[in-house]
Amino acid sequence: MEKLKYERPVIRKMNTGLMNKFGTRTEFEPVKDIDGVPVKSLIRQFGSPLFVLSEKRIRRNYQSAVRAFNTRYPKVQFAWSYKTNYINAVCKVFHQEGSWAEVVSGFEYRKALGNGVPGEHIIFNGPDKKPGDLLLAVENNSLIHIDHFDELFLLLSLCKPLNRKPRVAIRVNMDTGVYPLWDRFGFNYENGQAWTAITRIMESGKLNLVGLHCHIGTFMLSTSAYAVAARKLCDLASRCKEQLQVAVQYLDLGGGFPSTNTLKGSYLPGIDTVPSVDDFAEVITTTILDYGFRPDELPLLILESGRVLIDDAGYLLGTVIANKRLSDGRRATILDFGVNTLFTSFWYEHKISPAQDFTHHTEDMVLYGPLCMNIDVVRENINLPLLEPGDHVVTHKVGAYNMTQWMQFISMRPAVVMIDQGGQPHVIRKAETLDYLQVPESMPDHLK
Ligand SMILES: *Cc1c(COP(=O)(O)O)cnc(C)c1O
Repeated sequence: MEKLKYERPVIRKMNTGLMNKFGTRTEFEPVKDIDGVPVKSLIRQFGSPLFVLSEKRIRRNYQSAVRAFNTRYPKVQFAWSYKTNYINAVCKVFHQEGSWAEVVSGFEYRKALGNGVPGEHIIFNGPDKKPGDLLLAVENNSLIHIDHFDELFLLLSLCKPLNRKPRVAIRVNMDTGVYPLWDRFGFNYENGQAWTAITRIMESGKLNLVGLHCHIGTFMLSTSAYAVAARKLCDLASRCKEQLQVAVQYLDLGGGFPSTNTLKGSYLPGIDTVPSVDDFAEVITTTILDYGFRPDELPLLILESGRVLIDDAGYLLGTVIANKRLSDGRRATILDFGVNTLFTSFWYEHKISPAQDFTHHTEDMVLYGPLCMNIDVVRENINLPLLEPGDHVVTHKVGAYNMTQWMQFISMRPAVVMIDQGGQPHVIRKAETLDYLQVPESMPDHLK
């Protein structure tokens, strides 16, 4: 038998405050494969660290979210939030499933066109639409969601010489009972700004008001906030009908449904606390159905969900670089990925599993990334089996907002692999190289 490795005994301060009344939950299952593909072989083939996406899980999430809504309401459309994850292969999966595109910048808009989304199925949101982007969106008959008065005036001046009427909606912000208020995007409901914007649009005669939009926040834990939002949009729609004789075609409730990640500082794990898509669907659809629209004027309901559809389909595989003892005796384990790769570690306590068998000796430890900076902490405090250099770990629920907010800093951005429904891995974004990094650089002659 192999001799057991010696671990120096240490005396540690008891951290009794960390217990909760249900007892500590320890989930020490080694995670050795993803959709049937061994973690070891993924890392051997594509390197470490490595993002892995499960196509099967993405499709399942999408289908069950659609089902939650269209079993309750007759006209439902999802639009994939590009900024959540805009790797083209990911977007294509959503579009194949029937999703439109929701974009917030000129380059995302062009990506959606490149992914074959018909212009009229692209929703253009955000406070920063350049004149050229707006013209492109007008040309393609996209849905332009106006964010502020300056954008409204810009759009009006741009379409003066054109003889087409762009399809627009306004983004509305409102008090939904969740504070602090999200009032920096769109026109405010309570102070009458939203109504003023609507009347300006109608008076201009140059724009076709087809919808009303809101996106009340992200990782929302309150379903009732959506009831308030839906009712306020319904109120605006009915005022449009009564006072301006316009029947808006759709209400867009935005995104914001939480994934099952655990927020930092929360008492219980996310999986036990966050409302489900069904819960949100129930309050939104009953609010609209009970509002009293004429059946033939029931608006299309658009959702722009991002994180809830992809977070749990993404994994980050990594490798242990080293262990050390901190001055207070705590164990520190250094991984080959840090906060530059895993941006969401700033607000989530990501679950991290060892990818191989282990002994039952566990210890509280801090997980550091490889960066030469103090903020590079993947987990402040996690109880894990002892990991050795060369061991692999699997970080869970990282599909949303990492592969768009990652940055090249000290270490470069790793490869992204998608495992198809048949269990075949495909590289959908290569690991970055020094050559790639230096493409936009140039050297003035006198420094050559
Ligand atoms: C980011 C964003 C979304 C997606 O939000 P999630 O919280 O990921 O669902 C949808 N709509 C707009 C306008 C956004 O900015």
